Amino acid sequence: MYTTSIDYDYDSLVRDLKGTIYYNEPLRHHTSLRIGGVAAMYYEPQDLDSLMRLAMRLSQGARDMELPLFIMGGGSNLLFADEDFDGVVISTRQLNTLQWLLDGDVLTIRAAAGLQLAKLLSFTLMASAVGLEGLAGIPGTVGGAIAGNAGSFGFEIKDAIEDVSFINNKGALKQLTRDMIPFSYRHCGLPADSFIVEATLRLIRGSQSEIKERFDACLCQKKQSQPLNELSAGCVFKNPPGDFAGRLIDMAGCKTLSEGQIEVSSRHANFFVNKGNGTARDFLTLMERVQEAVQANFGIELTPEIKIVSGRFGR
Ligand SMILES: Cc1cc2nc3c(=O)[nH]c(=O)nc-3n(C[C@H](O)[C@H](O)[C@H](O)COP(=O)(O)OP(=O)(O)OC[C@H]3O[C@@H](n4cnc5c(N)ncnc54)[C@H](O)[C@@H]3O)c2cc1C
Repeated sequence: MYTTSIDYDYDSLVRDLKGTIYYNEPLRHHTSLRIGGVAAMYYEPQDLDSLMRLAMRLSQGARDMELPLFIMGGGSNLLFADEDFDGVVISTRQLNTLQWLLDGDVLTIRAAAGLQLAKLLSFTLMASAVGLEGLAGIPGTVGGAIAGNAGSFGFEIKDAIEDVSFINNKGALKQLTRDMIPFSYRHCGLPADSFIVEATLRLIRGSQSEIKERFDACLCQKKQSQPLNELSAGCVFKNPPGDFAGRLIDMAGCKTLSEGQIEVSSRHANFFVNKGNGTARDFLTLMERVQEAVQANFGIELTPEIKIVSGRFGR
């Protein structure tokens, strides 16, 4: 299913780099859905320098060889194929620093890509900084949230961003301000194959009790409407303009559909949950059945919000 590379010298790719390297690593261990085949190499760089050196080596050789390559954060928006991934998966998990500067009422935060959103939000709550409450309850990392312009309740992470630093596909470190990045709904528009490494967020300080109230309200609404205690990857489909994918799926009679161990959630029809040993194949089949039903009932084509990493749908 994936493009394959033959006899790639993975050792030379990560020689002298800091971080954790696993060979033949099951990707299901690293995704919220607990689905995914085995990656030939899975690497968590320990510092930016190691990631940059890897990117340089990849740009010099591995990309020419079409070595499959994928960068991930918390794995909370991913559907990896069941088949093995004959390439390199990079996780930003260990790049998780947070630096801050307070200037009057303006709090500037420099967050590394692998910093968990939950940790970022705890910090802003402690620092009484307004603006990220709409991200409450969203799992994953800063890098993943920027890559998909994550958000909810009308808020998107781009609203708080000042600039984003990334490594481009030539291995060079670049920085763009928010205005230069074509963010849109669940899309970021950075150059293809960029590795996001850090971002600056600019927030204004406010009343801590009001921030906590909004934060708790967002979290409470999510707990009531989403299957937060089950294995999922968040919303499967993007909301079509002026409507909600969950509503359309429900109205098309799909709320009780299942395929193997993958079920449309009874709590939120735009979440599919893995009841235990679900497969990507079943997940994709269920997606197709739901897409067909919504198309047949409403003439609307639902497009995936989750990132499908598979030869079947392309990367
Ligand atoms: C229970 C649940 C609730 C959710 N609720 C919401 C919600 O309300 N709103 C919402 O928007 N999302 C929601 N999600 C989806 C998900 O949590 C977000 O999309 C999150 O921002 C993904 O971050 P991640 O670090 O897990 O990214 P991953 O899943 O690891 O990756 C997602 C995408 O980002 C790319 N990516 C990750 N890191 C980088 C990087 N450093 N550089 C370049 N590309 C990168 C990956 O290549 C991939 O394409 C939910 C998910 C779950 C499981």
